[in-house]
Amino acid sequence: MDKAEALIGGEWHQEPGGRTFAVYDPATGAAVAEVADCGAELTGRAIDAAARALPSWRAMPAHERAGLMRRAAAELVERAASIGATMTSEQGKPLAEATAEVVSGADHLLWAAEETRRLYGQTAPGATADNRIWMLPEPVGVVAGITPWNFPVSMITRKLGPALAAGCTVVLKPAEQTPLSAIAVAEAFTAAGLPPGVFNLVPTSRPERFAEVVMADRRVRKVSFTGSTEVGRELIRQSAQDVKRLSVELGGHAPVLVFPDADPEAAAAAVARSKFLNAGQACTSPNRIFAHRDVAARFTAALAGHAQAITPGVDMGPLIDAAALAKVERHVEDALKGGATALTGGARLDGPGTFYPPTVLAGVTEDMLVCREETFGPVAPVIEFDDVEGVVARANATPYGLTAYVWTSDLTRTLRVAEELEFGMVTVNGGPLAPPQAPFGGIKHSGYGREGGSLGVSDYLEYKYLSVGLGR
Ligand code: NAD
Repeated sequence: MDKAEALIGGEWHQEPGGRTFAVYDPATGAAVAEVADCGAELTGRAIDAAARALPSWRAMPAHERAGLMRRAAAELVERAASIGATMTSEQGKPLAEATAEVVSGADHLLWAAEETRRLYGQTAPGATADNRIWMLPEPVGVVAGITPWNFPVSMITRKLGPALAAGCTVVLKPAEQTPLSAIAVAEAFTAAGLPPGVFNLVPTSRPERFAEVVMADRRVRKVSFTGSTEVGRELIRQSAQDVKRLSVELGGHAPVLVFPDADPEAAAAAVARSKFLNAGQACTSPNRIFAHRDVAARFTAALAGHAQAITPGVDMGPLIDAAALAKVERHVEDALKGGATALTGGARLDGPGTFYPPTVLAGVTEDMLVCREETFGPVAPVIEFDDVEGVVARANATPYGLTAYVWTSDLTRTLRVAEELEFGMVTVNGGPLAPPQAPFGGIKHSGYGREGGSLGVSDYLEYKYLSVGLGR
């Protein structure tokens, strides 16, 4: 890491006065770096830089924009191991997982780069014989991005890819837990030759201040946020003043429905993979696992077996911080007190770091905290069910609507249940997938807007309606 500073207009900056904040390794609790703690002045200068860079970036021929994005992706892939190591040091996920995230993050840039040449407009029939109607895609303008710590690189490239493809310039604030990965991404973009001001990075420990400045600045035309529903709701409120466009990718509370005609072993293997990935700190993480009585015993035993095969500190990292660990402990204790049983795990691990073991809870009921709130930890609560007709309503009984998983071998059931589930993404017989071509996103309290696919790019476009009289 060369710089732990803000990138503004192509140059690295310290906060005036030299204020910094510390970044910690959750596996040890040790401080790993001091980073520039940007306030209102630097945030304002980042917006100036993005506004200055906008006219030439949006006017740049699409294939040239795409070329720069491809170069940035190549830089990321070349640096994947070192950026991965940086990510592990501040976020805790295993190195292989971190490195894979950098590579898949680069893929979002590559896909979006291809999309620059497909920003087609439309024509519509004229209103009179003399009239012609066009719809012209135009970039929204300067975009502010706010990203979470759970996927410190791919959450950034998922915003940068479509924003840059659309011709927008960006001011991004990374999560205060993981600014080093974001700085490493910014270094890769700089090395790729991205023009100054197209991507500006403003690390800070004061996210409210950042939000205040970008929300009050009329040049920022869109805010793209990924994080908790609580903060998302606050940003929706703040964005009303200047009527800014907003995308909000918020929390989730994914149900899994394992029907009697499912393969319980295959389901358990896939649920274990998605549940314990990133120590359960994913918005798509399975949180309420409904297993039918006919297959529940086989499913739960297999799931517990997979959980036991995971070694914390080797295959699975720690939780992000002490508050996250305390929340997981509170949720599990509540479930155990309410009559659930921990088939494996169930109590934090001794020693340094915020490690919690993979935990499988049987005998869970829907009144327990694990079923009502997002635990955001490696806890798999299994609820046994009988009524195959009633289970979809139980899965839908959450304010969230991001991801749902269905396990069945019955085609009719697949289609019926997928239609009835109130979630932005439904996966049948598989785990969570977020390839760049798919529109990732939720409904209800999981937010609105899509990241990925051409829908993701249109989130950064305005369509200008142009009506021309031919004067005949
Ligand atoms: P968080 O909302 O606390 O933080 C996310 C980002 O918002 C960080 O950059 C943080 O600095 C910033 N932030 C915090 N307070 C702010 C404020 N008042 N104004 C402006 N910005 C502010 O969320 P978290 O707990 O760090 O992240 C986990 C949450 O993110 C979970 O709920 C998870 O489900 C969600 N998430 C959603 C998706 C998705 O795509 N839907 C993806 C990943 C994570």
